[in-house]
Amino acid sequence: MPSKKLEQAINQQIQREFYSSYLYLAMSAYCEEINLDGFAHWMRSQSEEERAHSMRLFNYLHSRGGTVVLQAIAQPPSKFRSPKKMFEEVLKSEQTVTKEIHKLYEMANKEGDHATAVELQWFIQEQVEEEKTANDILAKLAMVGDQPAALLMMDRSLGSRGQQ
Ligand code: MG
Repeated sequence: MPSKKLEQAINQQIQREFYSSYLYLAMSAYCEEINLDGFAHWMRSQSEEERAHSMRLFNYLHSRGGTVVLQAIAQPPSKFRSPKKMFEEVLKSEQTVTKEIHKLYEMANKEGDHATAVELQWFIQEQVEEEKTANDILAKLAMVGDQPAALLMMDRSLGSRGQQ
């Protein structure tokens, strides 16, 4: 069973992943509002993925005989100034999550909790992907600039997430 300190830290991470899910859902709503349906679809998929991250830790804690204590989820912003500003927030948010997961990993190692350390390795790899994706999309948005035709092409491409 993880130590009480580690259990509490995992519960906090469950909350952070739920907040990410909530944040992406808020971003999806914003994209719908500005008629970028492809971006909205992408954000909704991302929101579901974050929920799956929470559930992965939820299941893990149970499998180790720990106690899950769900915490309050803060209200995410509802206004994002532009798709580019929105993805800058995505990157910032994922970088924060990465740092927190690294801290958690260090804590597990310090306590000699190998099972938790191995479980967290999956999250460490996942964060490499999350940051890469955010960076790639940001780079494309920089190329798009303020050309609506290019933005609509990107919208179509993001709209195909999960269909390839
Ligand atoms: Mg996540």
